[in-house]
Parts: sequence; structure tokens; C-alpha cells
Amino acid sequence: MDRASFSEVLHFIDGERIASVDGSVIGNIEPATGEALGTIAAGGQAEVDLAVAAATNALPDWASSSADTRGQLLERLAAAIEDRLDDFATAECIDNGKPITAARQIDIPRAAANLRFFAGAARYQQDECYRTRLPDDDLWNVSLRKPIGVAGCISPWNLPLYLFTWKIAPALAAGCTVVAKPSEVTPVTADLLAKAAQDVGLPAGVLNIVQGAGAAAGAAIVSHPGIAAISFTGGTETGASIASVAAPSFKKTLLELGGKNPTIVFADADIDQALEGAARAAYSNQGQICLSGSRILVESSIVDSFTERLVERVSSMAIGDPLEETTEVGALVSSEHLQKVENSLQVARDEGGTILCGGERCAPAGRCSGGFFLSPAVVIGLDSGARTNQEEIFGPVATIIPFDDESSAIEIANDVRYGLAASVWTGSVDRALRVSERIEAGTVWVNCWMKRDLRTVFGGVKESGLGREGGAESLSFFQEPTNVCIRFDSKGPDSTDE
Ligand code: NDP
Repeated sequence: MDRASFSEVLHFIDGERIASVDGSVIGNIEPATGEALGTIAAGGQAEVDLAVAAATNALPDWASSSADTRGQLLERLAAAIEDRLDDFATAECIDNGKPITAARQIDIPRAAANLRFFAGAARYQQDECYRTRLPDDDLWNVSLRKPIGVAGCISPWNLPLYLFTWKIAPALAAGCTVVAKPSEVTPVTADLLAKAAQDVGLPAGVLNIVQGAGAAAGAAIVSHPGIAAISFTGGTETGASIASVAAPSFKKTLLELGGKNPTIVFADADIDQALEGAARAAYSNQGQICLSGSRILVESSIVDSFTERLVERVSSMAIGDPLEETTEVGALVSSEHLQKVENSLQVARDEGGTILCGGERCAPAGRCSGGFFLSPAVVIGLDSGARTNQEEIFGPVATIIPFDDESSAIEIANDVRYGLAASVWTGSVDRALRVSERIEAGTVWVNCWMKRDLRTVFGGVKESGLGREGGAESLSFFQEPTNVCIRFDSKGPDSTDE
């Protein structure tokens, strides 16, 4: 991949890739090296105003086009990503620091799958219709679904194109035009998507991308009166601030926020599978996944042997240049984030926790010697109430917490302000169902982790979010239903009833 394509990330407004109105830019750093990749156009109110104007202009034609027309364009966009899968994957790897294998096998294929899925989902969306027979009336109630208008989509840096498309695909499929913002930390693949949108002939103004910082470009999107709905994925504090700005104007919001997810391992589980599952859940993407299983709850009877084996497994993970095929653990996304994770490890020590392995800076020699690498850490010795077990660290740090029985496992699992996801490892179907029902989370995986069917609901309870995405839920968020109640003469002119 030609690194020149990273050197200047631009906005995509009204079908054109453009610089900021006043020419302002911010820098983009490669996490694996700490070196400059190039500049990003830094958007704010002026660029968001332009983007909203373009989206508003494009809305009537896009909203009134058929689901099939919109679906075909989304499928072409998906194909454009698949045709350049290696370029997109390399760009994501370089921009984010994640291993190339993850970008190639997960992030980019799932980004294309999001576009393809919603291209189809909009075609097959069912409208509701109820016949209502009353003593004196016969009625048909038909629910019309109208695109809500211009949609604002804001996504984070951890799964950049994957989560960006998870938001824009249903919005576009539902007939909305979009003003979207990727994270300033990982802007590159959204810019590549803008180029692909030009190549496949997406009409100007249908998809607009404003690059730049959350406090400037993101805040301008949230507060803009021309934007009808905000779909946001990011941190809980940012979500709360967005909700407080959107609520007074009754702007519809969908919030996918943080997590402190439990992996619960019962002694009757297939321990080999549970161990591998727990390791993947905790350390994939350097632990920077909202669904990461950062609290590993293990039944007391097996906790010592499980801990020993987990430490062995984690210590053998291949840390290296994200561009190398053999790398399992890449770089954290930024030097600020590395510092934040290190601070959390210091909190763990101060609270009396023991770090059994990892938690050390470990940039590989050579090209990556200035990169933001941290070896995966396993922490023990802390109660459920400790800050380390309560706060989202969003890095390669997992704690092990022993439990005595099913009830105490559930109690510990629910003892956090978050409720995004959980995974339960057990050989008993009865136990799996009992525990799944009592866990406060939007998603529970049993004997697996992070398996997704895009038709299923996705979201969090408690402080992990508001609303649900996935399948029909994603589409209906971007639609405004209207019930049309039609009274009709079911008896006809010859009826003798009175
Ligand atoms: P942030 O909340 O910091 O940022 C998310 C997005 O919001 C970014 O594009 C950011 O821009 C933007 N933003 C920041 N401030 C504002 C603002 N005031 N108004 C509007 N937009 C703003 O989260 P991170 O990017 O750090 O992502 C990590 C967090 O995301 C974690 O808490 C993680 O759990 C959560 N997450 C949740 C998921 C879920 O599905 N529930 C999935 C993935 C992550 P910029 O980066 O440019 O500042």
C-alpha cells in the first residue's frame, strides 16, 4: 500500500474530498512507530454546516429512491472494499496499530459485510398492517416508515471502519443522508471509503464525512439543528455529554458505550476452550474492544490451575510489528492511551493487586522501537469492588476473580455500572440458560465470544448504552413511523345493515 494515501486525510462533502475551510489540520501518528503519518483536515462548525447543507439537499431524492436502488449502491460500495481488501486492511493496521491478520480477517471483511447486510435488510423490511373490525367501523391501520432525515453518525477508533460502516450502512439503507465522523485517531479508512464512494457513483451529498476532533467536529454534529438523529459509539462519559446536548431539542439518540464485561468460567466447562476463549476475549485488539472480557471470573475449585495456564498462554503471545503476519498483539492506539492504561495498572498495584505477567512497555527493536506497545497483563488479588474491577481500562489488562457458586458468579458479574456483554463457559445447558437470563447485559455468549449474526440485537444496559442496533433495530432507529388509519366501507352499497 502506498503510504502517500495517508499523507493528507480530507473531508468528504457533497461528493468532493476537500480541505477545511480555513485550511486547519491536525497530525496523525502511526501507533507502531510513534512517527508522523500525515495530516488530517480538522473540521468544526463550518465544515459540519457545509456537510449538513449537502445532506439536506440530497435527502429528497435519496429518501424517495427505492430500497433496491439504495441496496445496489451499498453493495457496490461493499464490493469496492472487498476488491481492495489488502489496501484497506494495511491502512487500518498502520493507522490503528492492530495486527494485520485481524484487520484482514475481521475488521475489513466485517465492514463490507455491514454494507451488504443492510443493502439486503432494507429490501426485506416488513411494514406493519392491522385490520381493525369494530361494531360500526372497519379499518386498515398501515404503518409507514419514513427516513428520519439527515443522520449524524459518530464512531470510535478501536474498530474504525467496522464500526463506521455499522452506523452509516443502516442509515443510508433506511433512506437517510448522513454526516459522519470517524475518530481523529484513526481517520484513514473512512477517507478511503470516501474515495470508494466516488468510484461507485454514490450521489453527491448522500454520505458526508467530516474529519477532526470530537470536541469540534463531533460536538458540531450533535448540536446541529439540521440533524435529526445521532447514532454514537464511544465512551460512556462522551455518551452522557452527547445525550445532554441532544435531549433539549428532542433529537433521537442511539448510544453504544463502554463495558466491563465478565468472562465466567465454571469448573464443568471444557477448560481448554474456556482458556483460549478467555484469552481471546481479554487481549484481542490489545484489549481495546468494548466487548472485551476484562474480568475473568473463575470457579474457586479450578482457579489456581486456570490462572497458571492463562499466565503461560498470555506470556507466550507474539508481540510485534502489526504488519507482520505472526503478530498476535500489536500497538496501543496512541501514546496518551498507553499512558492511561499504565496509570490503571498503577491503580491496581496501589489497591494491592498482583500483576502476574505483562504490563511492561515492550516496543520491538527496529522500525517499531518508538511504538506504543504494552505486554498483556494478568492481575489477581482484587475484590470485585476495587477500581480495577469497576473501571473500563480498554487495554491488554484482565483481572481474575474467584467465585464459589452460581449465585455469587452472577452477583459479581452484575456488580458494575456497565452491562454490555458477558461470556459464560459451562458444560451444562441448564446452567447456561439460568445464568444468561440473570446477567445484566445486552449480549451473552455461551461457550464462545464475539460471534455475531447481524440480524440479532446489539447494545448495552445500565451505563453501557441506550437503544439497540442490529437488523431491524438499526433500520428503525433511522426511520420515523407514521400510522395511517383508513376507514373503509366493507359492507358495500347493497348492504341492508344499518
Ligand atoms: P470517545 O467517546 O472518546 O470517542 C468516540 C467518538 O466520539 C470519536 O469519534 C470522538 O472523536 C467523538 N467525540 C469525542 N467527544 C465528542 C463530543 N463531545 N461530541 C461528539 N463527539 C465526540 O471514545 P473512544 O474513541 O476513546 O473509544 C473508546 C470507547 O468506545 C470505549 O469506552 C469503548 O468501550 C467504547 N466503545 C463502545 C462500543 C459499543 O458498541 N458499545 C464499541 C466500541 C467502543 P475523537 O476521537 O476525534 O475525539
